[in-house]
Amino acid sequence: MVATRVMEVLTSTPSAHSGMTQKNVVVGCRTPDVRQADSAVYKLRGEFREQQSQLFIGNNYRVRVRRSLLQRSGLDVRAIDAAQPFDYESVRLQELQNKNKLKVGIVGFGNFGQFLAARIVKQGHRVLAYSRTDYSEKAQELGVAYFRDADDFCEEHPEVVLLCTSILSTEAVLQSLPTQRLKRHTLFVDVLSVKEFPKNLFLQVLPPEFDILCTHPMFGPESGKGSWNELPFVYDKVRVRKGRRSRAADIFLDIFAKEGCRMVEMTCAEHDRYAAGSQFITHTVGRVLGKLALQSTPINTKGYETLLGLVENTAGDSFELYYGLFMYNPNATEELDRLELAFDSTKRQLFGQLHDVLRKQLFPGDGAEKASSSQGSLDTSSKNGSSTNGGTRIVSNVDTAPPVFESVLIKSVELEKDPDSISSKSPKH
Ligand code: NAP
Repeated sequence: MVATRVMEVLTSTPSAHSGMTQKNVVVGCRTPDVRQADSAVYKLRGEFREQQSQLFIGNNYRVRVRRSLLQRSGLDVRAIDAAQPFDYESVRLQELQNKNKLKVGIVGFGNFGQFLAARIVKQGHRVLAYSRTDYSEKAQELGVAYFRDADDFCEEHPEVVLLCTSILSTEAVLQSLPTQRLKRHTLFVDVLSVKEFPKNLFLQVLPPEFDILCTHPMFGPESGKGSWNELPFVYDKVRVRKGRRSRAADIFLDIFAKEGCRMVEMTCAEHDRYAAGSQFITHTVGRVLGKLALQSTPINTKGYETLLGLVENTAGDSFELYYGLFMYNPNATEELDRLELAFDSTKRQLFGQLHDVLRKQLFPGDGAEKASSSQGSLDTSSKNGSSTNGGTRIVSNVDTAPPVFESVLIKSVELEKDPDSISSKSPKH
């Protein structure tokens, strides 16, 4: 019987644009017996070593050679197509192709779960999903096997269980999963936008034999609808065993690395500190601006376009997600307070400046000092209108002063009298 060794060869060729493009080809090596095949393969490996290339064969090795080297080596490179399923060669080939593929079970098949599923399927992994709502049709469209029953889902033995549930529902969903039906080496991954919370939850709830990887793709269906190139992907290998057990985690992370994500390894605590100051603020400002119902105009500046983009980016996310960012990140309250203080201080700066200008306009002869000394009892009689502000009578003596000046003056007096009047209304959480 002819022994066959099949190698996957990764060749690099210069691309039209820049750098090299890489291409997998299969090298078949047939010899009369297995030992000979092995030694042939080792010989090839030696040759490639001499050429300063890396060679890997089967599960353990991969060849990285330039096409020119390949041709010079006289290797027989052939496409193995139309192979019969019983053919050893095709079985090995299948093994090679599957060795980097995972069976990923998504729990929570909403907006973000579907978004991730589409890319994972595209990379050739098998995806199953389970959710509270019936998403059978959507799943079919995406090439995902959908399960309405958690037992059936777990009995499919996904290698990775990927939690894409809302932050608020995660605990209940995790507690309700029949984890005893899963294999002992299952890897649990989450994508929640907060990280300390799922990490502690996983460590508390999951049996010790399961591995844990906490991740946060720092993009969503809107910001990641095109390429994921350079988009940050944060992860923390909370409990990933070394050796063969790390295979699932490595392949899972590789899904994002292959899409060009910027892979950032950091602890869950670090993530939450950074995310409160960046992601939570982004969502808050996006939501505040969303309430202004900003419209596009024919004279949009670049800055304004950015603001419209921010509103669009955040408007698609559920309020539950935003609320989860607030409730489950201990740093969020502080950031909200800081945002409010910053807004007040900016406002005070504006009104403070205006106050001086207005004083000069309203009391042209008196000079700023005089006006300043009379401030707080601005009960000057005048020929123009007057208004009352909490006992302080503010009177404008300029015929031409536009009405808005008066309200601005009232506001600036109010702010000067009680600078903390607004910031002291910070919500207690
Ligand atoms: P979401 O509103 O945060 O979560 C929706 C998902 O949670 C759906 O799958 C939904 O299931 C499930 N769910 C909600 N309440 C449930 C309950 N009581 N019981 C069972 N399942 C429940 O929106 P999302 O955008 O899809 O986000 C999912 C996760 O991804 C969140 O943890 C979020 O922080 C994270 N994430 C989102 C983004 C993003 O841009 N959207 C980016 C990074 C990370 P059904 O649909 O079956 O009801």
